Amino acid sequence: MSSADSTETDDVPTKETALETARRQLKRAAGHLDVDPGVIERLRHPNQVHRVSVPLERDDGTTTVYTGYRAQHDSVRGPYKGGLRYHLDVTEDECIGLSMWMTWKCAVMDIPFGGGKGGIVVDPKDLSEEERERLTRRFAEELRPFIGPTKDIPAPDMGTDAQAMAWFMDAYSMQEGETQAGVVTGKPPVVGGSEGRDTAPGRSVAIIAREAIDYLGWDIEDTTVAVQGFGSVGAPAARLLDDYGATVVAVSDVNGAIYDPEGLDTWDVPTHEEEPEAVMKHDVPQKLSNEELLELDVDVLIPAAIGNVLTAENAHDVQAKLIVEGANGPTTSAADAIFEERGIPVIPDILANAGGVTVSYFEWLQDLNHRAWSLERVHEELETEMLRAWEAVRDEVDERDVTWRDAAYIVALQRVAAAHEHRGLWP
Ligand code: NAD
Repeated sequence: MSSADSTETDDVPTKETALETARRQLKRAAGHLDVDPGVIERLRHPNQVHRVSVPLERDDGTTTVYTGYRAQHDSVRGPYKGGLRYHLDVTEDECIGLSMWMTWKCAVMDIPFGGGKGGIVVDPKDLSEEERERLTRRFAEELRPFIGPTKDIPAPDMGTDAQAMAWFMDAYSMQEGETQAGVVTGKPPVVGGSEGRDTAPGRSVAIIAREAIDYLGWDIEDTTVAVQGFGSVGAPAARLLDDYGATVVAVSDVNGAIYDPEGLDTWDVPTHEEEPEAVMKHDVPQKLSNEELLELDVDVLIPAAIGNVLTAENAHDVQAKLIVEGANGPTTSAADAIFEERGIPVIPDILANAGGVTVSYFEWLQDLNHRAWSLERVHEELETEMLRAWEAVRDEVDERDVTWRDAAYIVALQRVAAAHEHRGLWP
C-alpha cells in the first residue's frame, strides 16, 4: 500500500488520487477541531481492505479471473456502507478513498453506518448479461466472509444496478440458508428494495440546492440552473428544481448539452434510464458541449455526471454563483481553492447527494423490520433528514466562517471522532 502511506503536502496539486483528496479533506477538517491526533491518524487508514480473485466462466467456455476489492474504512458508528463498482479504473487506493468519503457522508447525515467501497476491475460492457450475473454471484461468494446485514452492506455504483444487487443478495442468501434482504441495498422493491431509492440522490441534490438558494436570499422563481449529466442523479435533481419553480436552462449527457435560455421542460427530456444518451435528440434552440455547459452564465451549476470536471483549467471561467455537487468528487482540490478565492460557494457531494445512502438506510430498516414504506413516507423522511443535515452544516458555516465543504467535514469528523473517543482504541 505504498501510495496509501504517502503523506500529502499543504500545496494544492492539480491532480491527486481519491485517497489523497480524502486525506487532504480530513486534515483540513481536523485543523478546525480539537481531536485526539491518534484518532486522526487512525482515520487516515482503512480498517481493512479485502482483495479477492473472481473467476468467471465466459460464454465461450474459457475462464477469466478478475480482481475485486472491498475497502472498509471505519465502522465506529455502525456497519460499513457503500457501493460496488464495475469499472476498469477500479483500484485499491480509489476504493479506500471512496470508502473514507462514505464514512463522512453517513456521519454528516447522522445515520448509523460507517464507510465502505468496493468493486471489480472490469469493463461491464465486455460482459453478456449472463456473464454479469455469474460474476456478481461469484463476487458475493468471495466477499461473504466480510459482509452481512450487520457488518458491511454494499449498494449499486458505477456499472452495477438494482438487478446486480438482487443477484448479489440471492447468492449470499442461498449460502446462508435464509433470505437476508438487508445484506445489500438498492435492490428492486419486489425483493426488499425501497420505493424512491432510485431518485433519492437527485432528490436530495434538489432539496439542498433549494435551501442554498433560500440561504443566499434568492427567489427560486428567478433562479437559473444548468445540470451536467441526466442520469440517476442529474435528471431527478433537474426535474424537482423545475417543479420548485427554478428555470433549468441546460442539461447534458455524455454526447453534449441542450440549452434554452427560456427554460427547458425537463420532464420532456429523456433520462438515461428512459432512453440512454438521448438528451441531444431533444429539439431545442441551442446545442453546447459539456465544457460550455460548465461555463454558462447561470445562477446554479450542478455537476452530476462524473468526477474531476471542475479543475484548475476551467474554474476561473465558471460563471455560476453557486455550485451544488451531484456527482461524487466533481471538483478537484485545485478548483476548490479557486472557487473559495472567488467567493463561489460549493455545496459538497457528501451532503448534497447523500439522499442515496439515506434511502439505502431506510431500505435496510424496512428489510430488518420486514415492512415496506410508501413512496410518500420515504419522501417525507428524506426531506426531514436532509433538512436536519443542512442545518447542522449551515450552523458551522455561520459560526466558523468556513467553506461549505469544510463545514460538512467538520460536522462529520466531530461525530466520528466523538464515537472513537468514547469507544477508545483497543490497547
Ligand atoms: P448515470 O449512469 O445514471 O448517469 C450519468 C449521466 O452522466 C448520463 O446522462 C451520462 O450520459 C452522463 N455522462 C457520462 N459521462 C459523461 C461525461 N464524460 N460528460 C458529461 N456527461 C457524462 O449515473 P448516476 O448514478 O447519475 O451517477 C452520476 C454521479 O453521481 C457519479 O459520480 C456517481 O458516483 C454519483 N452518485 C450516484 C448515486 C446513485 O445512487 N446513483 C449516489 C450518489 C452519487
